[in-house]
Amino acid sequence: MNKHVDIAASHGGSIAFAKNAEIQLDASHISLVADAVGTPFYCYSPDAMTLAFQELSEALSSVGASICYAVKANGNLSILQLLSRLGCGMDIVSGGEMERALEAGVPASKIIFSGVGKSPSEIAKALRAGVHQINVESPAEFQLVADIAASLQLRAPVALRVNPDVDARTHEKISTGKKGDKFGVALSDVAALFDAAAERSEVDMVGLAVHIGSQILDLAPYRSAYRVLADLVCDLRARGHAVNRLDLGGGIGIAYGSNTAPDVSEFAHIIADTVGDLGCKLTVEPGRWLVGRAGALVATVLYTKQAGDRMLAVVDAGMNDLIRPALYGAIHPLEVVRSTLGGEGQSYGIVGPVCESSDIFGTYDNLPLLSTGDLVAFRCAGAYSASMASTYNARDLVPEVFVSDGRFRIVRRRQTTAELMTLEKDTIWQNIVPG
Ligand SMILES: *Cc1c(COP(=O)(O)O)cnc(C)c1O
Repeated sequence: MNKHVDIAASHGGSIAFAKNAEIQLDASHISLVADAVGTPFYCYSPDAMTLAFQELSEALSSVGASICYAVKANGNLSILQLLSRLGCGMDIVSGGEMERALEAGVPASKIIFSGVGKSPSEIAKALRAGVHQINVESPAEFQLVADIAASLQLRAPVALRVNPDVDARTHEKISTGKKGDKFGVALSDVAALFDAAAERSEVDMVGLAVHIGSQILDLAPYRSAYRVLADLVCDLRARGHAVNRLDLGGGIGIAYGSNTAPDVSEFAHIIADTVGDLGCKLTVEPGRWLVGRAGALVATVLYTKQAGDRMLAVVDAGMNDLIRPALYGAIHPLEVVRSTLGGEGQSYGIVGPVCESSDIFGTYDNLPLLSTGDLVAFRCAGAYSASMASTYNARDLVPEVFVSDGRFRIVRRRQTTAELMTLEKDTIWQNIVPG
């Protein structure tokens, strides 16, 4: 277990590694940390995360919306602890994420359980823990939650996640709010489910939820989705149902280098315009926006080589450490932290060591000359990077490190291959049919 230092106390007033929600990569410090922990490693600025949270809370204070961080963006215990201490709740999508949030000291009363495929045991655990809300995504899940609550003699606080049939205008692999997407309850099923809930004393139908997608840069789809929600609230109230809570989802995008990120005060205006007057308790569930810019993946250049008419730099981080380029065609801005040869105007394809052709981070121009031992950092790697890592090619999970104010703290140490192999040792044959 990592030593739990009080992060808030350790800031000591001066913030050296974040002037805004983005990590500042001080080259000499990053080099020293790289020497100390080895590469690759994820480098996070807790100060930048704090600033992001504060900026969003301020923007949302006018509409009184609370924030639940989407743990799947980065579930590191120290990050959960940091955000929780700032007053943030958590949005989880699995029993494992619930265990993490509870371990980090997040009260169950500040946890919302989302996700399209909750298992019976996960639902039971969440009910026993006393989570704030379970966002149900289908009539079948509604029945199951009600049945489990009845068998445990507990009351389930349920919100229905609806599919508002809105195009989030983001990458197809992270769009979740169009009719036909796997997420949410069809609009046409919502009223019947509220009617059914009224018949089940073990269900407390508290409201509605939407989440239309991720890395959303154009805020217009939020307006459309929240209008759908507002209409639904009016319809349901007209049928005699109480609708007290609205979970407005996450998905606010960040600038990965070239694009422009939306303005959160504009996001707050949209909320005020569409659902601000309904008298509902509002929640948003951002993941990427809170932590994405605060992290970088630092890697060492292993080799450079000519491939056809282009130069490649092979680095020691791979698609198993940062899969977004391979999965979504994402390009992470690259910063050269240490270049022995210097210069400028060079173009490199930056590739990883994994035996897959898709293990390529992209082609980057205007770089200095790269050579063995140089250090590079992929920026905007605080979200969906460590949390999506795998051990493919028997590559161990790499360290996660907080950097703040001239100090560093390893918040997850490097995994060892021996630890992974332990799970595969002392195996035995067992009869399938007992006896
Ligand atoms: C993934 C997810 C989020 C967070 O998405 P971001 O794009 O990281 O803000 C919020 N709510 C739900 C239900 C999710 O599945």
